[in-house]
Amino acid sequence: MQQDYDVIVVGTGASGCTVARELSRTGKQVLLLERGGRVKHVGNTIAMARMAKNYGLTLSEEKNAVVFGQTYGGASNLTAGCALPPLPGMFDSLGIDLSKEAEEAKEDMGIGLMPDELIGETNLRLLEVANDLGYSWQKIEKFIDPEKCIQDCGDCMLGCKRGAKWTARIYGDEAIENGAELLLKAKVEHVVVENGKAVGVEGIRKGKKFQYFSKIVVLSAGLMDAFILRQAGIEEAGSGLACDWLQFVGGIIPGMSTAKVSPMAVGTLEHYDTDGFILTQAFPTFSQFGLAAISLGPSYLSKIPGFKKYTGIMVKIRDELNGNMISDSKFSKPITERDRQRLGKGIDIIKKILLKAGADESSLITLSPTGAHPCASCRIGEVVDSNLETSIQNLFCCDASVLPTSLGKPLVWILVSLSKRLAGHIDDRLTKM
Ligand SMILES: Cc1cc2nc3c(=O)[nH]c(=O)nc-3n(C[C@H](O)[C@H](O)[C@H](O)COP(=O)(O)OP(=O)(O)OC[C@H]3O[C@@H](n4cnc5c(N)ncnc54)[C@H](O)[C@@H]3O)c2cc1C
Repeated sequence: MQQDYDVIVVGTGASGCTVARELSRTGKQVLLLERGGRVKHVGNTIAMARMAKNYGLTLSEEKNAVVFGQTYGGASNLTAGCALPPLPGMFDSLGIDLSKEAEEAKEDMGIGLMPDELIGETNLRLLEVANDLGYSWQKIEKFIDPEKCIQDCGDCMLGCKRGAKWTARIYGDEAIENGAELLLKAKVEHVVVENGKAVGVEGIRKGKKFQYFSKIVVLSAGLMDAFILRQAGIEEAGSGLACDWLQFVGGIIPGMSTAKVSPMAVGTLEHYDTDGFILTQAFPTFSQFGLAAISLGPSYLSKIPGFKKYTGIMVKIRDELNGNMISDSKFSKPITERDRQRLGKGIDIIKKILLKAGADESSLITLSPTGAHPCASCRIGEVVDSNLETSIQNLFCCDASVLPTSLGKPLVWILVSLSKRLAGHIDDRLTKM
């Protein structure tokens, strides 16, 4: 069997690009295949929509919205740049210790607290009000370069046009400088398996079929991993799926607005262990807000013109593993009673904070639940082992889908750490081959 590459990486999100970067640094021949194109970071809603699958309007069978990145760099292009580390002991029961890789990632990605002028007055005021109410809000670290970031912008999730925010493209481009190849608009559909070992991939690019061969294949294509694995006979993939449901609550507070401040720069994890949710400042973009208001019914239409006056806070929960991959474009993900209770508890606290900050009760608006972190569909310990290898030799999976459960908090730092660990393991495997 012809082997064109040492490693083929499918998908260029935070995980895929990290694996490619690390392996290319040690001289491995890497091919990166990405289904999307390279949408430019121009910092507007249209670009944001183009970087997401189905323009950000992907719905589960139950009509619940879940956002997937589909461009070079995956969902990392859409983040708020909010950085939470792997918690100590998080993966202990799986025999995984990410402390070394997390430290390395912190340094590489430039993770740190933003200066107060970039956090913004509205955020600092929310933090003060929440703490006056007895909560324990804090400033949150970011993978944003304060030297490139500017005040009163808040466009992080639209694709930062100043290049201040870390995205997986930084690692992908570094991999290319080290000799890796990148093919965009290349949709992988199958893994080629010979004698129980993965030896390559097949897919479609610009209407033509392609086939590439390698010693190792890494799937980093998010939910699509499950579909590809099922095609390869791993039936348990895609059974169970989480997405960290979130809900935004906004209110109009005189003299404040979160429309142009750094999203997710303040918040709290104090309810995480007890109630399974985090709270941070965040609100949707104008067009998302418009769509969300329309979906709530005609009485909400009058709220749309006042968008810029809103101050918003988000609750994000650890949801249940009750989703299911149905086909490559269909999945089921109902919101359970327990999920609604978790969201509801967070919403009650948010309303207290907004009211204390001076919001008029009649201005409060709660938008519908959305999932922004599709994950846990090919879980460690079930679909992959603790080295992220599947039951097919030399076929690995590495992205949010391998998380053993919903984490209900920002994932990028964790995924970069996990991917660095996998790259080390693959390097060892290649040496022995
Ligand atoms: C709006 C938003 C804000 C967020 N904010 C934050 C934040 O502030 N901090 C944080 O840590 N996290 C945040 N997240 C979550 C974080 O961005 C994601 O969890 C993380 O980036 C997922 O990375 P991944 O490696 O799992 O893959 P993904 O980013 O899901 O990438 C998978 C890639 O694979 C490609 N692909 C899919 N199928 C195929 C195929 N068949 N062939 C080839 N390629 C394929 C896709 O196009 C995509 O580019 C946010 C997410 C969203 C949507």
